[in-house]
Parts: sequence; structure tokens; C-alpha cells
Amino acid sequence: MKLAARISLIKPSPTLTIQAKANALKAAGRDIIGFGAGEPDFDTPRNIKDAAIRAIEAGFTKYTPVGGTDELKDAVIAKLQRDNQLAYKRSEVVISCGAKHSLFNVAQVLFEEGDEVLIPSPYWVSYTDIVYLTGAKPVVIKTNIEDGFKLQPSQLEAAITPRTRAIIISYPSNPAGVSYSREELEALAEVIIRRGIMVISDDIYEKIIYDDASPFYTMASLGEELKRISIVVNGVSKTYAMTGWRIGYAAGDEEIIAAMTKYQSQNTSNPTSIAQKAAVEALNGSQESLPMMVREFQKRRDVIVAKLNAIPGVACLKPVGAFYVFPNVSSFYGRLLEGRIITNSAEMAAYLLDESNVALVPGGDFGHDDHIRISYATSMEQIEKGVDRIREALRKLS
Ligand code: PMP
Ligand code: GLU
Repeated sequence: MKLAARISLIKPSPTLTIQAKANALKAAGRDIIGFGAGEPDFDTPRNIKDAAIRAIEAGFTKYTPVGGTDELKDAVIAKLQRDNQLAYKRSEVVISCGAKHSLFNVAQVLFEEGDEVLIPSPYWVSYTDIVYLTGAKPVVIKTNIEDGFKLQPSQLEAAITPRTRAIIISYPSNPAGVSYSREELEALAEVIIRRGIMVISDDIYEKIIYDDASPFYTMASLGEELKRISIVVNGVSKTYAMTGWRIGYAAGDEEIIAAMTKYQSQNTSNPTSIAQKAAVEALNGSQESLPMMVREFQKRRDVIVAKLNAIPGVACLKPVGAFYVFPNVSSFYGRLLEGRIITNSAEMAAYLLDESNVALVPGGDFGHDDHIRISYATSMEQIEKGVDRIREALRKLS
């Protein structure tokens, strides 16, 4: 079958592929430990589920306005004011089917052939492909582990060309859990403003942030000029354990939001009416399940980082947010087991799946082949068992 050339520009989402593979192996009876899933293992809080049930009972089951209901837009506006000290109007907000959808749509309306879009690495797997699908070129800025995987202003400056339109930035980051202090953001912002590029800020892990992190500031909150050139993207997937409900949103310049809404009107139409009601409750209702979830993630982080760093040859930075670790395992590359040589992160992930029944994502998919990504959004017991298995599998390589 002849397919459009466009589709060959991208690969299937590696994170979702690993998750599906792990689930299929589990269903086939294999004792798989799933470190692939990028979603909280907690249930959606009761008050949010109830809001959705009420919506169904009340017959709130029809099309809504394409860009989301006024009720949900108002809840997003209140959230952005409360948490980020940002004031937006309804015309400056669009609700989409997940943050990924908002990111996709904003890229579609802003970028085209000839444009360059900056993406600091390690990056979330979908950014590069989202940019490729617009015809623009993703330009990866490789950050260094010595800088704690933080983008340096000099690196940003050096990557900007007359073709650069924007930077896509996200912190706490997936996969390294890196965040920035206000001073560090201001230093990046100085370059961004002076060189006249836009900011797409993916704030999806904003609330999954630990005691030892600096307070979270989205770029747009650093001043009027930054607000003018920023699109804030966020959603309810991670904060409220709502990955399956598919609600995300974007806020920013009215003209860009109108274009995104027009684009959405020709593909998904509105996000699910029932999920929108649930998202209103998530944003406006009780926030009490969040600290419990974050505390639990922090405990798991402490355990997994200590256990990984105790494995000879493994080096792992301590993340300050999100729910992933990104250890360097390259000291095992080139080593041999029964005729099998592991030379990169994909082969390492395949080896760990075959040898130890542990599913995780190769670091190469995030732009750093020396690493592997482990999601610790799973029980402490699975974490302990999974890392022990990794240790044993690595020990066998000589
Ligand atoms: N951004 C990042 C950095 C993510 O890890 C994810 C993972 N799902 C998303 C965006 C997309 O989230 P959503 O479920 O809202 O589409
Ligand atoms: N963002 C999560 C992850 O990185 C979920 C899957 C996806 O959308 O990529 O694993």
C-alpha cells in the first residue's frame, strides 16, 4: 500500500510500544516487571470519578464547544492564576485530548518547512516526531550530565539560528527528573528574549516535584514579555492520575489559540464531554490525594536511586521531580554474555527484558544512548525486585 511520505518521518511512540509489549508478555504469563509505563500507578481520585458519573447521569454526553467548555476553561484559568500567577482570558485557552494533543496542535499551527525548533536532550520521546510532522527540523541541544542535564544559556545561544522559531522545554523533565531554579530560568529567558524565539513550556510534571527541588516557575510567569511569547501546556494526566481520560490544555496568545481551535475543529472536535467534567473537578475540587502520591513517589525515588547507584558500573543522578530515573549503563556496553554483545541502549533494554523480565525504555529514544529509563510509578515491592534483577543481569556480563 502506498502511504504518504509524511508517515515515514516518524516512529511509533517508544514509551507506549514498550508498555504494550510488557502488557502482552504479562498476559501471556511471563513474570514481567514493568518499568516502562509513564503513568501514575494510583487510581483516579474518587471525587473526580464521581463527577464523571454525575455527568453521564445528567446526560452531559453530547458535543461541547470545540475548544472545551467555558466551565473547564474557567477552571484552567483559575489554576493558572492560583499556581502560576498568570492571567488569561477564555479566548487564550484551549482544551485538548491530552497534553500531547496540545503540543501536537501548537506545533502544527506554528511550524513549517524551513523552521528549526530547539529541543534540549534528554527529551521526551514525542517532541522530535511532533516537530518532524510539521515539516520543520528539530534541533537537539545535548545537555551534559556534568551540568545535571540542565540546558546552559551558552548552549542555547549557540543553537539559535535565523531559522529558529521556538524552544520546547519541560521540567521536571521526563526522563531525567531535572528542574530549574528561578535564577537558571532567568538566565535562559534573557537569551530567549534577546534572540526573539518562542517558548513552548510543557508543564505536565509541575506538581510531581520533591522536597529538594527549587520552587516551580513556568517560563511565562517570569515577566510580561515571556508571557507574550510563551505557550503553556499542561494537563490532568499525571497530577490526578488521569492518563486515560485524555484532557490537556494550552494557554497563550489569542491568535495561536484560535488557530489551534480551528485545527482541532477539523480533527478531534471537542475533547470528551464526560472527561471535561471530571477535569473541572480535578482542578477545582479537593487536592488532597496529590501530596500523598508525591510523598510516595519521593520514597520510591530515594530507594531506587540508592539501589541503582549501589550496582557497580551504574551511575544515576537523583531526580527532583517526575517519576523516572535515567541511569548511565554504558560501562556495560561491549561486554559479552554467551556470544551476545551489548553495544547500545536498545540492546541493553532487550537484554534486560529477555534475561530478567524487566521492561524499560532505551535511553537512545530520549537522545542519550548511554542511558536507560526506568519509571518508578510502580509498587515499592516491584521496584526492589526489578532492580535486584537488573543487578543480577548486569553481573553476568563480562
Ligand atoms: N509531556 C511529557 C513530558 C510527558 O511525559 C507526557 C506523557 N504522557 C505528556 C506530555 C503527555 O501527556 P498527556 O497524557 O496529557 O497527553
Ligand atoms: N509520557 C509517558 C512516558 O513517557 C506516557 C507515554 C507517552 O505518552 O509517551 O512514558
